[in-house]
Amino acid sequence: MSKSSFEFYKKAPPDGGASSFVYPPSEANIRFFAEALQNGCVVGLPTETVYGLAALALDEQACHSIFSIKGRPLMDPLIVHVADLEMARSLAIVPEDGRILAEAFWPGPLTLVLKKRSIVPDLITAGKETVAIRMPRHPVAKKLLHQLNAPLAAPSANPFGYVSPTRPEHVTSAFGDKVPFVLDGGPCEVGLESTIVDLSKGKNPAILRPGAVTAEQISDHLRLPVQTKLLNLEETEAATAPGTMLRHYSPKTKMIAFELGSIPKTAKNEAIAFLQRPGTLNPSREQATFWFSEDGDMEIVARTLFDLLRKLDAKGFERIFCELPPANADGLVLAIRDRLSRAASIK
Ligand code: AMP
Ligand code: MG
Repeated sequence: MSKSSFEFYKKAPPDGGASSFVYPPSEANIRFFAEALQNGCVVGLPTETVYGLAALALDEQACHSIFSIKGRPLMDPLIVHVADLEMARSLAIVPEDGRILAEAFWPGPLTLVLKKRSIVPDLITAGKETVAIRMPRHPVAKKLLHQLNAPLAAPSANPFGYVSPTRPEHVTSAFGDKVPFVLDGGPCEVGLESTIVDLSKGKNPAILRPGAVTAEQISDHLRLPVQTKLLNLEETEAATAPGTMLRHYSPKTKMIAFELGSIPKTAKNEAIAFLQRPGTLNPSREQATFWFSEDGDMEIVARTLFDLLRKLDAKGFERIFCELPPANADGLVLAIRDRLSRAASIK
């Protein structure tokens, strides 16, 4: 922690909130948060995807604090959030395809992996020659970025490997006074992390992480085929430190995913979660039956996914069984399947 951030953490935002560490996004508080960031602090930032743990991207010491607060391995690069395309161009070489996608989907849940410029610290890119950049559309994130006029590194505000945060209280319950300044942006509108598309390989764009922006939408805009290069769980395990990515987005309770329609038998102290409200409810199992949406609307499933997983985790069940959407899905449905499969310790 730098001396200036240490001193700044002793202050409090001018407009107080209903709960400790969470502050309303008033004009005065936005100015305070911008000043906190300029002094090297790490703050909780609402975006439309999930809440982020933000620091000035060009402040290496502050970015280092993000890794230590999260317990994130240094080999896992951070996404940089920008106010506009011009700010992205100051950090990376934006090819024509990047401009097309930025114009079509920014501000929004699409991250572009681009060739980086030398001002971007190696710490952010985990030593790679590329940097991941996106422009968020959450009004509070936009206001803060405009106030700052500087890029923010912001990975999801959860301890590494745990379920991502979609509400301000998810940030404070995990970090408490380690992150004493969290801006309240309400529940996240999308609820899943951004789609990541790699544009650093010329005319071979590839989706590295599925999200709300689909491969088909990207392909339509670029007039190019777009590969989806999701590592399966075993490959992810082999490619990184053993035992880390395999349990990404995971509740602490053992979770088991099952395919749509093949309902497993559960015991008394086990929970079951469906994508939509089941037609008939077994009265003896009612207390242990949950659903992400009333009618299977996948936008609602995405929005409620991490919050429900966290609630189930807190209830003390021995195991959680969770329904997966179909394997042949695209876009948001594929993203939901990806997150649930990774959350489950057994596929
Ligand atoms: P998050 O935890 O949501 O901030 O996601 C960060 C993820 O973005 C990382 O775990 C990587 O999968 C991806 N990422 C960030 N930077 C790069 C990069 N330069 N190249 C490829 N993927 C990246
Ligand atoms: Mg994350």
